[in-house]
Amino acid sequence: MSLVANTPYASDLASQGIDTGIDLVDRICVAGRWEIGTGDLIESVDPATGHIFATLHGATPETVDTAVREGLSAATTSGWATMLPHERAAVLHRIGNAIDASRERIAALQTLDTGKTLAETRALASSAANTFRYMAAALETMDGALTTPRGPWMTMSTHRPMGVVGAITPWNSPIASDAQKLAPALAAGNAVVSKPPMWAPWVTLLLARLCEEAGLPRGVLSVLPGPGRSVGEALVRHPLVAKVSFTGGTTTGRHLAHVAADKLMPITLELGGKSPTIVFDDADIERALQGVLFGIFSSSGQSCIAGSRIFVHRSIADAFTDELVARAGRLRLGVGTDPATDVAPMIAAAHRDSVAAMVDDAVAAGARVRCGGAIPDDPRLAAGTYYPPTILTDVTNADTICRDEVFGPVAVVIPFDDEADVIAQANDTVYGLACGIWTEDYRRALRVGEAIHAGTVWVNTYKQFSISTPFTGLRDSGLGIEKGRDAVRQYADQKSFYLDLSDSPLAWGSPR
Ligand code: NAD
Repeated sequence: MSLVANTPYASDLASQGIDTGIDLVDRICVAGRWEIGTGDLIESVDPATGHIFATLHGATPETVDTAVREGLSAATTSGWATMLPHERAAVLHRIGNAIDASRERIAALQTLDTGKTLAETRALASSAANTFRYMAAALETMDGALTTPRGPWMTMSTHRPMGVVGAITPWNSPIASDAQKLAPALAAGNAVVSKPPMWAPWVTLLLARLCEEAGLPRGVLSVLPGPGRSVGEALVRHPLVAKVSFTGGTTTGRHLAHVAADKLMPITLELGGKSPTIVFDDADIERALQGVLFGIFSSSGQSCIAGSRIFVHRSIADAFTDELVARAGRLRLGVGTDPATDVAPMIAAAHRDSVAAMVDDAVAAGARVRCGGAIPDDPRLAAGTYYPPTILTDVTNADTICRDEVFGPVAVVIPFDDEADVIAQANDTVYGLACGIWTEDYRRALRVGEAIHAGTVWVNTYKQFSISTPFTGLRDSGLGIEKGRDAVRQYADQKSFYLDLSDSPLAWGSPR
């Protein structure tokens, strides 16, 4: 047991009646064995207090090799790969139910590890449970195809497990990202080796324990925390890894796309964003104000889909911005366990400082700070990695702060003149992840939504998700699709059969 301290944060959780009996044991899951890692020491820091609350030895590239080889063998010998779909689905259902039953524990652990509010981590746990059950249902109802014959054959198409899937996730929404990869990959009958982020490895390890208890055959899932450049890289390069699903930054994703290309291996990439949110002059202003605020400042802005570029029609830009600034200034910074907290600490001091530096650079380049803009000097917040909701104006869409992903609670407001102007500005970015449109005119909403390069468009709402609706990033925001009924097929090899039904042997070169 390497729980370093009963942190103030942990006792805060306890005082709210939340079970902190969290098993912070220095063990990683290597093909079903819980071992002390032989890799780098990971020190887990509570973002609210700066205390190291646990330590963990991570994996190494050698551990990756063991996990991949033994995972592949376990998927076969345990029968996981050949199990009937409804039998595998039953296990996935039990995993979903186990997540639900442990929701408070998962939420508390994730709040401790990432600083996020409990309201958010509870929602992420529920989402993960739903994802496992949805993928179970998708698996049970997924048909192969009897294709239309174009000759004297019965022709059909089926799906088979790929073997071992690598799942690499970032720190901002751990259990939900895990579930989006693990549930469909396991559903398809694969073994999975998961590489959680250095800054937040604990929830993925807890998930592995829940999977075990729910009856996932031993060895089919490994969870190997460790540095991306060694452990993650070894996973992607491993010759027996048949597919990787990666969520993280665009620079890392682009590098991994090259590695995958060398292996001719499929890879799904869910990457960064700089999403526009567009407020037309006919918008329901109250709805727009609340949605825009939530879209950028929830999760302390540490969200790939954060609506960080706010375009407002020029006729309402001043009034809208004034009210947005007033409301952003009233958002309450505090610990994630306090139900009154709107904006929790950021994941780590290094990340918070990089956000602060980007704002400083923008100000030096001429941006005007309308609220926030500096690390708070409130002694109540001194120990945590806080950064306040920040709104910048007097920028153009060409400025660095409008082009680079900040991944923090920082928004720019830019006025626009008409539809053509805002479509051009919104699309003038390398990213294509999400977009928000605020208007009472649904014809306009659909017209503009079709014209914006984004995988997801929200109209009069923002940052809402459904596991049944596919999620994808265009341009530098990614490659491939997650979620939706077809997610299981993304982790399966398709195979076609021709069964000859003719009475005569095959004639040489007969065209069909
Ligand atoms: P990151 O790219 O630094 O790391 C993501 C994961 O990749 C981590 O587990 C890391 O250890 C691993 N990694 C790093 N280098 C690697 C390598 N060479 N080989 C293999 N693995 C490697 O990203 P981050 O800072 O953890 O996360 C923030 C980024 O994630 C933001 O850009 C954000 O927009 C993006 N994100 C995207 C989505 C989406 O669905 N599109 C969702 C959440 C976060």
